[in-house]
Formats: sequence, C-alpha cells, structure tokens
Amino acid sequence: MRNHIKVFKFGGASVKDAAAIKNVAKILKSYQKDSILVVISAMGKTTNALEKVIHAYFEDKENAIELLENVHQQHLQEVQKLLGKGHDVEKDMAKLVNTVKRFLKQNKKKGYDFVYDQIVSLGELLSTTIVAAYLNRLNMSTHWLDARKNISTDNTFREGNIQWDATQRNILKNVLPILKKNGFVLTQGFIGSSKDKSTTTLGREGSDFTAAIFSYCLDAESMSIWKDVPGILTADPRLFKKVEKIDRLSYKEAIEMTYYGAKVIHPKTIKPLQNKNIPMYVKSFVEPKGEGTFIGSNVDAHYPPVVVIEKEQVMLQISTKDFSFVAEHHLSFIFQLFTKYRTKVNMMQNMAISFSVCATIKDEGRLSKLIAELKKTFNVVVEKKLELITVRHYHKSVIEQMKKHKIVMLEERIRNTIQMVVKDVPVMERK
Ligand code: ADP
Ligand code: ASP
Ligand code: MG
Repeated sequence: MRNHIKVFKFGGASVKDAAAIKNVAKILKSYQKDSILVVISAMGKTTNALEKVIHAYFEDKENAIELLENVHQQHLQEVQKLLGKGHDVEKDMAKLVNTVKRFLKQNKKKGYDFVYDQIVSLGELLSTTIVAAYLNRLNMSTHWLDARKNISTDNTFREGNIQWDATQRNILKNVLPILKKNGFVLTQGFIGSSKDKSTTTLGREGSDFTAAIFSYCLDAESMSIWKDVPGILTADPRLFKKVEKIDRLSYKEAIEMTYYGAKVIHPKTIKPLQNKNIPMYVKSFVEPKGEGTFIGSNVDAHYPPVVVIEKEQVMLQISTKDFSFVAEHHLSFIFQLFTKYRTKVNMMQNMAISFSVCATIKDEGRLSKLIAELKKTFNVVVEKKLELITVRHYHKSVIEQMKKHKIVMLEERIRNTIQMVVKDVPVMERK
C-alpha cells in the first residue's frame, strides 16, 4: 500500500544563498502537516567550485586547501545571514570541511574518480546541514539524514550503480519510522556509499535520481521537484525565446526527452517512478502555487513540438584499415570499448567500410583513451564541438528553423522523432 509520504527535491538554484533558503522554508511551511522527505543539492555552483578543488589536488595541494577554504567561507557568509554569527551549525560545518582537509593531506589512493567523490560530496553535506539548522530554528522539526547510510552503490566512483536490495532495506529501516512520526526528514541528493563505506556519487545532476530512489523505496504518494522554471517547457528557455509549459506528460514522453538530453530532469529519474506508478510534479520555487507539470501514467495528451539540444557531442567515423566491410564482430568490439569507457552513444550509422557514432563527451580523459584503443584496429576521424538536436512531434517549419546556419552531419527520422547531429556553418568573412 502507498505510504502518505511526499518526496520533495530542491536543486542548487533553490538554495543558492540565504534568501533562497528562506524561500524554501516558506514553501515547506505550507506542508508542515505532511510527512515529507526533502532531498537537497549543493548550494548554487558549489559542485563546480569543488571540482576546481579536485583539479588542484592533483596539481598543487596547497592551492586545493585554499580553494576548499573559499568554499567554506562562502557557506559561512550565507549561514551568518540566516542564523547570525556563532550558531552551533558553524561547528558542524567546520567538522565536515576538516574531514575533507584531512583527506586532501593524507589520502594515498590515486584514482581520480575515487578522490572526486570524497571531495565533491561536501557540497550536499554542507547545504543540508545548513538548511536543517535553519528549519529547526523556525521550529519546523527537521531530522538530518546521512544519505550515505541509505543509498548503497557499487564502487563505480562518479557514477555509482544503485544496489537496490540494500538501499530498500536501509530506507525502510532508517527512514520510514522517522517519517511516520511526521515532520521533515532532510537528506542529500547525489551521494551514496559503497560496501567498503567510501562515499560515491550518482553522476552530475544526480539529485533528481536520489529523490526518485527514495520515492520508490518509501512507496511515496508523489514526488515533486522544485525548479526555477514553471514546469517542463517545449524547449530550454535559456536557448529559445518562445517556449510553452507542457501541463501533462506521460512517463514515456518524459523519459524520451530526458534521455536525449533535456537538462530539466536527470534521465534516470523516471524509471523508478514509473515502476511504482508514482506521480511526479515539476514545480516552480518562484511561483509555488503554480500547477507545474504532472508526469504520470494515463496521460492522453497531444504534444506540441518539443526540442532538445544536447551540446558537447563528438562524432567518430570508424573505418577498417584494409577496406574490408564493417562486420558484426567489428561492431561488437566497438561497442565493448564504448561500454568500457562509459561513453553514451546517441546516434549511429553503418556504411560499407565505415561506422559513424555520435556520443556525448562526459570526460575528455576517457574519450582520449577510447579513441586511442579504437585506433589500434581502425582508422578513426574525430570531430568535436557538435550538437545533437532532437525534435519530438515535429512540424516541417520547426525542422527548417533548427537547420538554419547549421551543417547536418547525420540525420535520422523514427516515427514522431527526428534527430540531427549538426555543426555551425563556418563564418565566411570578406576581406
Ligand atoms: P536543479 O537546480 O534542480 O538542478 P536544473 O538547472 O538542473 O535544476 O534544471 C532547471 C533548468 O533546466 C532550467 O533553468 C532550464 O534552463 C533547463 N531546461 C532545459 N530544458 C528544459 C525544458 N524542456 N523545460 C524546462 N527547463 C528546461
Ligand atoms: N550538486 C550536484 C551537481 O551539481 C548534483 C545535483 O545538483 O543534482 O551536479
Ligand atoms: Mg539539475
């Protein structure tokens, strides 16, 4: 049976500073009678700032410690605006920062991805510590929960795979009893831990997925993610002028949009919700009374054209060295390498002696290793700085507009979806 529990997720923009945190508290105040598990991301651009600490760790340790201290100070400034100077939470924050400092000084393990997770997780630990202290100050009884004791993953650092049985067990044992007593339980998005108790993360933007994992394991009645947009729109408002809100979306439509790169929801979010038929709402933290977008089953909608742009695309044209056909055993070998280097393939096309693949560049290091290994067997031509444009429910006019000033490198139409890999037309300046 479904539990009377709601799961809310607030992203980085919604907790970016003291004023934003006050706004979150105001939203939560109107849900004080409910049992709510709240998942929170790192404040504003903290994750990017911590990525700089990680980078510095491998180049110049002193600089890494200085950058870390800057992150600490920025958080302190906002805390003091919220709670005044000298609140006990400052000690909790210092403890969290010191753990990372000690790690920076003493760690001997070399793996980049391992180091990344131990450091970057600080962002969510700090933000939740601060928000919990503020809510408790307002007498909105809030229990701070360590997500690492609940979200179990394997040890694929930076992209932990969820160990569902263990996670389910942990959440039912640790979280459900607290929620049943009412009040808010507040936890971190994005982070988990492996069997040996090392911190892991679920991939950038992974807090939406965390909320879906908790929703699934708690059999929640609904999940809401609070954003800086009124709901899901027909395209990214940062890239397009005329966009409309979509009121209702099916799980299928939502998973397609996010899979192709719609940045509004992490692509792994939909499956756990669909599997238990948990309704999801995308709502605005700016206009919390707005309807937002509903995502669920039995949506019989007629969708307008929806455009998704994914940047950071690379195209690899892989051809045999001896003019032999690209045969099945070649394809199988190529895909094994893509799996090994965790590179997501978005589009592909097979010709007699060549095979073209468009993929997202997630990590330059992994991509270089993939290309080097492919080159041992094949000729490989690499083209970067490409865009993948996906249009669902397309009209001719929308496609014409998308192709303006672009060279189409690869195009595919399947039923109501068209996909194109494009690059900018070079600017031909006259002398
Ligand atoms: P969060 O703070 O929760 O991580 P995100 O920044 O990941 O929020 O997601 C919200 C942003 O997603 C919006 O500011 C918007 O620019 C972008 N976005 C991209 N595609 C869409 C879309 N189709 N509809 C709404 N927002 C979109
Ligand atoms: N803080 C993490 C990131 O910026 C996770 C998230 O916000 O979803 O990627
Ligand atoms: Mg996000």
